[in-house]
Amino acid sequence: MKMNWRWSKSWSLASRLFFSHLVVMIVGVASLVIISKISSPRFFRLHLERLEHKGWDLIRVHADLVDGFEIAWRRSTFWSVLVGATAAGGLSYWVSIRIVQQLTEMEQITQKFAAGELNARLPKSNIPELNRLGVSFNSMAASLEGVEARRRELIGDMTHELRTPLTIVRGYLEQLVDGEIQPSPEIYQQLVRETRRLERLVNDLQELSKVEAGYLPIKIQPLNLRPLLQSLVQRFADQLLEDGPVLQLECPAQLPPVLADIDRIEQVLVNLVGNAIRYTTTGSITLRVWIELSKLWIAVIDTGMGIAAEDLPHVFERFWRADKSRDRHSGGTGIGLTISYRLVELQGGQLEVESELGKGSTFRFFLPLA
Ligand code: ADP
Repeated sequence: MKMNWRWSKSWSLASRLFFSHLVVMIVGVASLVIISKISSPRFFRLHLERLEHKGWDLIRVHADLVDGFEIAWRRSTFWSVLVGATAAGGLSYWVSIRIVQQLTEMEQITQKFAAGELNARLPKSNIPELNRLGVSFNSMAASLEGVEARRRELIGDMTHELRTPLTIVRGYLEQLVDGEIQPSPEIYQQLVRETRRLERLVNDLQELSKVEAGYLPIKIQPLNLRPLLQSLVQRFADQLLEDGPVLQLECPAQLPPVLADIDRIEQVLVNLVGNAIRYTTTGSITLRVWIELSKLWIAVIDTGMGIAAEDLPHVFERFWRADKSRDRHSGGTGIGLTISYRLVELQGGQLEVESELGKGSTFRFFLPLA
């Protein structure tokens, strides 16, 4: 029994399908033949008896008629079983092969996908179940392809960004070793600046990868943001130069609580206010807070250099900077806004930007009220 089970377990699907069709057909044909073998001659004899009762004289031909009927029955049964079984067998073989062909094709395509051909997709099938399987495989494949594309893009961007400071540091160190330049405080300062930049890049990248993968722990709770805003304004105001822009807070005296993570909101605000200070030389930077329906809006409005209309759609893209060479010197990584955008989104809000070149920028986001 166990042997049989093992033996049948190694059968291919085509053989199983064909064999099951064959069994059904044999059972059907056998029952048809047996029942008709038992009942047909009896019904024929009954029919003859009924005719004799009606007055027909069949006594002399009775035996011949019964023999003739049996021969005719046997011949016709033989041919119908032969033709029927061949046709049914052929049909069942064709159906089994068709199903198995589609499955084999699906298997080959999934193997190609597993081997790295990420654009491999399953074709449509006329069998609804296989079609549904194909559709779900294709949507999984598309999302994996997207993840892979983003991963490659991130690695490409990252290596590009890391290469510049590393090349600068290596260049200086080699020149120092060869005696081509003399060590001076300026050179050491430049080296410190570049290594700081590297450090900042690595930290930002770590944060970005966590945010993008959704691993960043977010502790959402009802918060009153006013104390945070006041302390931030205080902290940044101390850093502003005398002839620089003024930093002001416009916030209602009483704020309803919002649902947010205080550390993440602080991170977003530090990025937005930090950017505003970096790109504003005169005028003002205003932190404005207002309530609209069930949302609390916070805007950082500056009168700085602004962003060109064609650049605005790229502002939240990672590593995007309006002027790469200038911002490399100012230490920007172009990741801050990408992180802020995702952080606001993770807290149920949305970060938006409005800006005009030479006039200033407004970065605003909302948070849901508690
Ligand atoms: P970075 O570390 O370079 O500041 P961000 O992602 O925070 O990275 O900002 C991306 C780019 O957007 C900046 O390099 C700058 O070109 C532009 N930007 C951001 N904030 C402002 C602003 N307030 N005014 C003008 N440009 C800005």
